[in-house]
Amino acid sequence: MKNRGILIVLSGPSGTGKDSILRELKNLRSDFEISVSCTTRKPRVGEIDGKDYYFLTKDEFKQKVDAGDMLEWATFCGNYYGTPKHELEDRLDAGLNIILEIEVNGAEQVIRNSSEAVSIFVLPPSVRVLKERLKNRGLDSEEAIEMRTKEAEREIALAENYDYVVVNDDLKECASDISKIIDSEKLRIIHRKNIIKEVLKNERVVSR
Ligand code: ADP
Repeated sequence: MKNRGILIVLSGPSGTGKDSILRELKNLRSDFEISVSCTTRKPRVGEIDGKDYYFLTKDEFKQKVDAGDMLEWATFCGNYYGTPKHELEDRLDAGLNIILEIEVNGAEQVIRNSSEAVSIFVLPPSVRVLKERLKNRGLDSEEAIEMRTKEAEREIALAENYDYVVVNDDLKECASDISKIIDSEKLRIIHRKNIIKEVLKNERVVSR
């Protein structure tokens, strides 16, 4: 039997660098998958169903919520977003490590609902730097940036509920910290149950 994979929740304020960190982490290791969320918003040009999101109708989404098949979900700009439980379970059982990149409210739900999730909060070096990055990203109006910064201050106060906190100052260092967390978590007994049996059976086990 395969050892169960690790479920990692990566969260932090908008603009703190979660997308950038995951891109960098892909250069460091390939033993993880990024969870695909469900949404009721319409696909944007170039987005692929099952890769960027699972695109659902509102009825389909509500049915999944009623059936208890969403690990977490939220509404944003009139649309629903959520993490489907079923697929996640199958992949973890198959031994895959999964990263959920989600906003802080969704992460709070996962931390509450899942005893196995390893939670990582990404802090910006300072709120001022975060504001600068949001400006440079060029996706938001000045008003939206003010709103996001205020929201970030509220969210940063919740970082103490997480297992780990990383600071995204230097992107490469931050991705490397997350890679170290994954390495440490892989050594936990819950992911190494088989190893005891193998050693006792004299099947020589390698350290990793
Ligand atoms: P999120 O996914 O958390 O909303 P992004 O990955 O979109 O954040 O990053 C927000 C902006 O900050 C982007 O323009 C990105 O290029 C920039 N950025 C991310 N990490 C760093 C970093 N370590 N140093 C400088 N700029 C960064």
